[in-house]
Amino acid sequence: MANETIPYKIYLEESEMPRYWYNVRADMKNKPAPLINPATHEPMSASDLAPVFCDELIAQELDNDTREYPIPQEILGFYKMYRPSPLVRAYCLEEKLQTPAKIYYKFEGNNTSGSHKLNSAIAQAYYAKKQGLKGVTTETGAGQWGTALSMACAYLGLDCKVYMVKVSYEQKPFRREVMRTYGASVTPSPSDTTSIGRKILAEHPGTTGSLGCAISEAVEVATSTPGYRYVLGSVLNQVLLHQSVIGLETKIALDKYGIKPDIIIGCAGGGSNLGGLISPFMGEKLRGEADYRIIAVEPASCPSFTRGVFAYDFCDTGMVCPLAKMYTLGADYIPAPNHAGGLRYHGMSPVLSQLYHDGYMEATSVPQTKVFEAAEFFARSEGILPAPESSHAIRVAIDEALKCKETGEEKTIVFGLSGTGYFDLVAYQKFNDGLMDDYIPTDEELQESFSKLPKVD
Ligand SMILES: *Cc1c(COP(=O)(O)O)cnc(C)c1O
Repeated sequence: MANETIPYKIYLEESEMPRYWYNVRADMKNKPAPLINPATHEPMSASDLAPVFCDELIAQELDNDTREYPIPQEILGFYKMYRPSPLVRAYCLEEKLQTPAKIYYKFEGNNTSGSHKLNSAIAQAYYAKKQGLKGVTTETGAGQWGTALSMACAYLGLDCKVYMVKVSYEQKPFRREVMRTYGASVTPSPSDTTSIGRKILAEHPGTTGSLGCAISEAVEVATSTPGYRYVLGSVLNQVLLHQSVIGLETKIALDKYGIKPDIIIGCAGGGSNLGGLISPFMGEKLRGEADYRIIAVEPASCPSFTRGVFAYDFCDTGMVCPLAKMYTLGADYIPAPNHAGGLRYHGMSPVLSQLYHDGYMEATSVPQTKVFEAAEFFARSEGILPAPESSHAIRVAIDEALKCKETGEEKTIVFGLSGTGYFDLVAYQKFNDGLMDDYIPTDEELQESFSKLPKVD
């Protein structure tokens, strides 16, 4: 380690920070399939989407051509409160693993919301405010997105109504209080405050809820309340666009030291942190300028890429949203209740789905006990308590570094450490008490779910 000249943490100067978001769709030959109307199967136009989403965000959603979007000054100002995020050389982890691999992680957990989600929350809240809206509605699973959006809305003076998946609402009471502190209202979903919530409760009494169901409720409230629109923290093209700030910062920092990654790894729930991290690297790959191995890591209990189908599906359980073409487990799929590692969404970003389908990236799935073992190993070597979601990426980064130990290869591995685990201590408790187990869905269960996919030719 003595002759290393790379600092433990690479920060950017304010003047080096990205001034634009990068839209990877501009460089894709096969564009992601458009969102379609569930009744007519026609592509959704801007005016079809206008009752649900903010106007400028719709324009970004539909724009497959503009390569660079200047980041508005107000958003840059907000980013400066918590960005740049550090790119850390994991010297301690490397030493503990005794690997010749060089490991870096981009840490997005250094803000109160604890994850990368703030990068898109402030952008979405900004465009809602600019449109003169009163407020926004959304869903949240584990609570990071709801927290990030509450922070952004408090900053801009917008109202924020959050529908929180019931099991998380109960397991993570402190998340709820953070959101309320920032002024948001938080309702456990499914709830009796919406007609879709009442319907789901009647059909599935005692259900612990799902993201898909919370989305339906949030959309219903947005479209039935004047001055409100719905915002979503992952999956959508616009979210990947905002999250490109992660990858752009990473690339600028690596370039500063002449470092070229061999492998880039990220966890994938709806695909936003991974999509953001890989965007500029994927752009180079698509333009034929460079090559990287890019690996998406997902939970074995919610394996959209590795065991899902690439098809049009509902984004939500209530079937109120447009259909998206993506790798999906079916909109009714709910991971086993013992699943504690996040990344519970049934589908995947249409951009990443297309890139995966076209062979530009790999995907792998890992069982949660292995994920928490990696989280513990990482915490004990690098000092950061990682989010369980991020720990999926840690697992595979460690596995790749151990392969280098066998082969003697000095590969450079970069992974996304998307957030901290301070609000995931119920899951850590389960792991520490030896009460965590792995549930992996059977093929029959997945087939049952696939059989309910909408028929689209
Ligand atoms: C929400 C979240 C994820 C998963 O969402 P993506 O859209 O796939 O990034 C991953 N890590 C953390 C810390 C999160 O909060």
